[in-house]
Amino acid sequence: MSDPIRGIGVGTGSAAGPVARMAPAAPLPAPRAVADPAGEAAAVRAALRAVVTDLDERAARASGTGSEVLAAQAMMAADPVLADRAAALAEQGTDGAHALADAFDGFRAALVTAGGYFAERAADLDDLRDRAVARLLGLPAPGLPDPGHPYVLVADDLAPADTALLDPGRVLALVTLRGGPTSHTAILAKALGVPAVVGCAGAAELEDGRRVLVHGADGVIELDPSPAAVERAADRERRRRDLSAGFRGPGRTADGHPVALLVNLGAPHELTGAADADAEGVGLFRTEFLFLDRAEAPGRAEQAAAYRKVFAAFAGRRVVVRTLDAGADKPLPFATTADEENPALGVRGLRTAARDPQLLETQLAAIAEAAEDSTAHVWVMAPMVSVPREAAEFAARVRAHGLPSAGAMIEVPAAALRTDRLAESCDFFSIGTNDLAQYAFAADRTLGSLAELLDPWQPALLALVSTAARAAAERGRPIGVCGEAAADPALALVLVGLGVTSLSAAPASLPEVRAALATHTLAECRELAELALLADDAVTSRGTVRSRMTER
Ligand code: PEP
Ligand code: MG
Repeated sequence: MSDPIRGIGVGTGSAAGPVARMAPAAPLPAPRAVADPAGEAAAVRAALRAVVTDLDERAARASGTGSEVLAAQAMMAADPVLADRAAALAEQGTDGAHALADAFDGFRAALVTAGGYFAERAADLDDLRDRAVARLLGLPAPGLPDPGHPYVLVADDLAPADTALLDPGRVLALVTLRGGPTSHTAILAKALGVPAVVGCAGAAELEDGRRVLVHGADGVIELDPSPAAVERAADRERRRRDLSAGFRGPGRTADGHPVALLVNLGAPHELTGAADADAEGVGLFRTEFLFLDRAEAPGRAEQAAAYRKVFAAFAGRRVVVRTLDAGADKPLPFATTADEENPALGVRGLRTAARDPQLLETQLAAIAEAAEDSTAHVWVMAPMVSVPREAAEFAARVRAHGLPSAGAMIEVPAAALRTDRLAESCDFFSIGTNDLAQYAFAADRTLGSLAELLDPWQPALLALVSTAARAAAERGRPIGVCGEAAADPALALVLVGLGVTSLSAAPASLPEVRAALATHTLAECRELAELALLADDAVTSRGTVRSRMTER
């Protein structure tokens, strides 16, 4: 058996299965002379037909939004004008790959010029072009694999667009070469409830079909595991699930101290699962999905309709809406500029509202409109607040729309250190540990190579959480954690011990967090928090707390 490979672990479970790799788009080869233009034109048409057939078949197998997206893609690829244009270029002597690329690029330019909805489809055309060129060259189709059985997805990295079509019933685990503990892959893995290993240099060597056993908790991937090792892991999984299944309802410690357990919501397809989860509401509604892949911001009516759906699904429960967090890892052409040297330190989050006040105004109006006829308790918070003045201005704007509860995310160390002042205008807080770690340690959250600094067990990060939680408690303001830290059952205990009043995570993470809380008293949580804060580093902090938990 080969030595295991390692990366940054995400999640708490383990899963075994065969590898299926995400194929990158093949680069366009150098132009070549064409001996048989008629044959080349026929090959071009055949490649397009094959892409259409493939997409139609996948649409028939998929369901819901995924199926609709694939069917729409198939229709675009089937456009006869496109095939005629590509075939005509081939007949004039352009080689097949370039004939396809040129034809698609012509369509693309027309869509971009048309603007609005059409311009937003340009990226879809790029994907179709890559698929058609791959077909013509006899290469594997780029994008998500479809081996026809459950698999461990291995990729360089996963972008939000790649993941819209991921089928949680098929993906057993995720392994990526790049990415850190707060990367989109990590967030996605938690949403799917599957183990993942990110920032894994060895992922490059994992070939299609190889059997692996992925351990999310410690970031280890066993290669060609023995049946006994797979059985042991499955056994542990069963025990873990059984323990979690023993607890239901609102979060509370063993001695009854309430800790609201909430879900993070970031995409429309997550809504049903989130609403059905045993949770007291939404602790972080990431509204960016409405704005992504768009050339222009959606209008008030479109936004209101989307928010209404979420509020209806959570009738009678809390929904914390975060206003648009554009910039850095979430660039949007109409809200952010491409010419900043350090986008993570640039005009992002709430700062975009200072440059374009209408963007926030429209969003707040849409939230207020949707909240009006809903029984959901709608709280609204701003991302990337740095100074009390920003929080006060934001809160005033929220209240001007008749929305009763305005809050701030604590993601910038300056805000954590001045939570007492922010409390003068804010009704509540939510700590975003992903960005708070990034800014406290000056470490890009997307870089796997800096994972050690971004580890949410870093005592300095916990010290910032402690400062903010204490200030919020003194002023009677609820303060939650909605970053990835809240999904780790051991760390959740520490956060509660530090004074955090709610935890928001992917629905799949909540049962284990609930079980950890239910089996520890508040005094024990405080003891664990003390130990975590006193540790010299993240590894010691995590190790000490975990071993203390298992000793009980
Ligand atoms: C965070 O920064 O911790 C957070 C919850 O926000 P996001 O991950 O969307 O930036
Ligand atoms: Mg953030």
